[in-house]
Amino acid sequence: MKPSFHPRLINDSFSDPGLFIPFLFEKRALLFDLGDLSKLSARDIFKISHVFVTHTHMDHFIGFDALLRLLLGRDKEIYLFGPSDFIQKVEAKLSSYTWNLIENYENTLSIYVTEIKKEKILKQRYNSRDRFKPAGEPQQFPFTGNLLSEEHFSVNAVILDHKIDCIGLTLKENFSINIIKEGLKELGLEVGPWLREFKKAVYEEGNSAQNFKVVWKDKDNRILKKDFTLSDLKEKIAMISPGQKITYIADMIGSPENITKAVDLAKDSSTLFIEAAFLDKDKDMAQKKYHLTAKEAGIIARRASVKELRLFHFSPRYFGQEKELIQEAMMAFRSGT
Ligand SMILES: [Zn+2]
Repeated sequence: MKPSFHPRLINDSFSDPGLFIPFLFEKRALLFDLGDLSKLSARDIFKISHVFVTHTHMDHFIGFDALLRLLLGRDKEIYLFGPSDFIQKVEAKLSSYTWNLIENYENTLSIYVTEIKKEKILKQRYNSRDRFKPAGEPQQFPFTGNLLSEEHFSVNAVILDHKIDCIGLTLKENFSINIIKEGLKELGLEVGPWLREFKKAVYEEGNSAQNFKVVWKDKDNRILKKDFTLSDLKEKIAMISPGQKITYIADMIGSPENITKAVDLAKDSSTLFIEAAFLDKDKDMAQKKYHLTAKEAGIIARRASVKELRLFHFSPRYFGQEKELIQEAMMAFRSGT
């Protein structure tokens, strides 16, 4: 079974962070953190619909201009999420440019900003036709932990302590679809590209009674067709199991409270991406700078029973010592020491 999401860290572990998460079934992607985007192709950047910024320290937010530059002049809606003061930070970015000509552009860029506070979220809109002036007062909603909920996935957040608020993020696929080979055999069907279409239809339509045409080629290259209802076919050839869970934890101090929150957020993740800024021997410095050590990152991964641990955001003081950071985290992940 191919996973639906293919997350990849944009840069090496010493560079400004960003996790690019393209979708298997659509030309679409999510982005966790808005660091240096220069290694992402324009084609990939155009796929991004939602950007989740953990906090607005420069290394996590410097990609804003690159994103805006590329999207300007396009018909596009982009959704940005960030912690306390995020609306003000985005407005400060937008207002630092002169926009006297863009209202005449053929296409409209709309920016939807969500600011996450402890008890509420604020939403604001900006539009290139209005020279990116805010569209009235921000709207307020309660903060439930959920930031985005769609047919087949959701994004949730917790607020972590990095001396400022820092958002921990998790992307959860509602279910994943595995194909039952015996089911195919019983129906006289063969594998082929139609299975991709089938999975896409199940993701999008669920249990619909709509018609689904299976088209495939046999060994003699003859084209064969069979009609089903989507729900019938799903019952016979699809096994629905829990989907992927991808968790992303950037900067935070390794306090007991933070660690508990991080473990809860990451619980049973398929992959945990987590910062490992310092070695355990420099824990004093990690605490002073409100960052995790590699050992703490490994302990969180272990307690959360994640399947795969991926580290990022190494302090530049460890250039050439990546192995030590990775070893320390992996040791804590596997054995708890
Ligand atoms: Zn930071």
